[in-house]
Amino acid sequence: LLLFIGLVSSVYSYDLYKDPSQDVEARVQDLLSRMTLAEKVGQMTQIERGVSNNSVVKDLFIGSVLSGGGSVPDAGNTAEAWQDLVDRLQNDALSTRLGIPMIYGIDAVHGHNNVFGATIFPHNVGLGCTRDPDLVKRIGVATALEVRATGIPYVFAPCIATCRDPRWGRCYESYSESTEVVTSLTDIILGLQGEPANKTAGFPFVADSSKVAACAKHFVGDGGTTNGINENNTVIDYKGLVDIHMAPYFDSIAKGVSTVMISYTSWNGMKMHANKFLVTQVLKYNLKFKGFVISDWEGIDRITSPAGANYTFSIESSINAGLDMIMVPNNYPQFINGLTDLVKGGYINMHRIDDAVTRILRVKFAMGLFEKPLADRSYSKHLGSEEHRSLAREAVRKSLVLLKNGKEAGKPLLPLSKTAAKIIVAGSHANDLGRQCGGWTITWQGGNGTTTKGTTILDAIKGAVSPTTQIVYEPYPQPGFAQSQGADFAIVVVGEPPYAETFGDNLNLTIPEAGIPTIQNVCGEVRCLVILVSGRPLVVEPYLPVMDAFVAAWLPGSEGAGVSDVIFGDYDFVGTLARTWFKSVDQLPMNVGDEKYDPLFPFGYGLKMGTPNSSKNCWR
Ligand code: BGC
Repeated sequence: LLLFIGLVSSVYSYDLYKDPSQDVEARVQDLLSRMTLAEKVGQMTQIERGVSNNSVVKDLFIGSVLSGGGSVPDAGNTAEAWQDLVDRLQNDALSTRLGIPMIYGIDAVHGHNNVFGATIFPHNVGLGCTRDPDLVKRIGVATALEVRATGIPYVFAPCIATCRDPRWGRCYESYSESTEVVTSLTDIILGLQGEPANKTAGFPFVADSSKVAACAKHFVGDGGTTNGINENNTVIDYKGLVDIHMAPYFDSIAKGVSTVMISYTSWNGMKMHANKFLVTQVLKYNLKFKGFVISDWEGIDRITSPAGANYTFSIESSINAGLDMIMVPNNYPQFINGLTDLVKGGYINMHRIDDAVTRILRVKFAMGLFEKPLADRSYSKHLGSEEHRSLAREAVRKSLVLLKNGKEAGKPLLPLSKTAAKIIVAGSHANDLGRQCGGWTITWQGGNGTTTKGTTILDAIKGAVSPTTQIVYEPYPQPGFAQSQGADFAIVVVGEPPYAETFGDNLNLTIPEAGIPTIQNVCGEVRCLVILVSGRPLVVEPYLPVMDAFVAAWLPGSEGAGVSDVIFGDYDFVGTLARTWFKSVDQLPMNVGDEKYDPLFPFGYGLKMGTPNSSKNCWR
């Protein structure tokens, strides 16, 4: 057969790998057999778009480009600028000898969050409270369309960390402290990538061009570090690692996830980026993962042991551990030269390189990149569409958790009246879209104020109440403020500022940004609902007695109307805690199932108002 193919191709110059009627594996093997070492090393290299100018992609056969954090096209943050950027790089890649498309990746972790005007969905911490796999799947479908609207076929999502300690700065990227909840919400992968034809077949399958390749991250144990310190050490035995942190990967792989990102963390002192047992033996062989394994940003640079380890050692140990693509992302000459020398010197063998390139090409063929490498500009209409915003609004409604409703039995505060004569809306987070969206929004760390398009909670309240209702808005009320207003009730919206990764590590978890005086200066003087906008539970027990009602809104994203839909009673609360709400930080870590479990609100807790369509009328 090989001889026959050889003959045919020499006569007709038939390039099997270019033939979409061939199956993916045959195409991969055909292409691989034509590649030089330089072309293979290039495929394994992912660079930042900021260093992708000139003809780097073309000259070095670069396999992938990313936008890290808030890295947007120089030409601006519009759909067209993104399409132009990605297409320019793609044309560079296509102009190489073999014309292998590059794959552009981005952190679309709650919608297409880097892009101005995209729909911003609630962060995962809120989605966990919905317990709704179908909802996250639909969010996956919408996110894929918005990402494709910018010409991008690959997202570094979902984060399937099981966050075991809310002091971790990335806890909001995790659905839950419960492995079971995290696992059920890996259905987002089916929305992002599409469903494998055969449910148990996993990857690869050929996706249509409205889909994106997903990335389950960060393998493994990222949410289990000591004291929740980011990128630190996860101390746990193998059974615990598998049962708590690895289990969501089983389902993700069965659902066809095409890439897995390695965690910065160590497992029992050993960096995951150098852990051959977990990456090769467990992930690739035992779990039969067929897609590619990608490093985290400069993840290999952080392999610091043994003493004297240097960049060459980092390349050698990570590639030999089984990593396929390295998010270099800036220092590409050193990586490319280093890897090439290591192969030539026999420190990394060709089988390992071929395994890496096979996996990378498999994803590219499966994503249809050889057939449709360029942006489909007809997709622009999906970016921030009304349909997607209404889906995000639904997600906000379902993620809210009602934790207290009324100081006395039979006297709930919620639902609030839409026809009150006068209401107070107070707090730093009432009228701030950036704070509502949190980190990973437009920029890596997120930002305050009107960073993108959307509806603040204050805007939404204005839209919900009657035209005759007077709203007094005060972001930072001083003592005596509420008393002087004579309002029917107050809505106090406080919480955390935006943050990402290590910047969010926090050992005290108190309500920041004048949130405590805000609560104290309003509540008690007038009946008040406190809405907490945060990436995790915070210390609230001391202030709970003055609150008439208390709602956790997490980081709801761009659609504040999801909040007003519920507090004014058009919909009831359906969210229940996917995290344990501690009384004091001394108790941490404390997770459902622990022997010593003494929470303020337990995992699974959540009240209903008893508005139409609900059977319960709870209070606390
Ligand atoms: C994060 C990853 C992210 C990557 C690319 C890293 O700092 O840990 O989650 O995908 O940056 O932006």
